[in-house]
Amino acid sequence: MNVTELFARLDGATIPGGCPDCDSETDIAIKNGVAHLSLHHDDDCPTWIRIQARR
Ligand SMILES: [Zn+2]
Repeated sequence: MNVTELFARLDGATIPGGCPDCDSETDIAIKNGVAHLSLHHDDDCPTWIRIQARR
């Protein structure tokens, strides 16, 4: 499998984990050959609360 095929498989996938402080999930989207990861924290995740407090 080459990188392009690997990315095609990962596009739209959701993988568990990504944050050590909660049961987060990470969505993967492939755009123009670049992987974009979006991490979804639990609402009461201490890391997520810290990120929001900085805004
Ligand atoms: Zn988290």
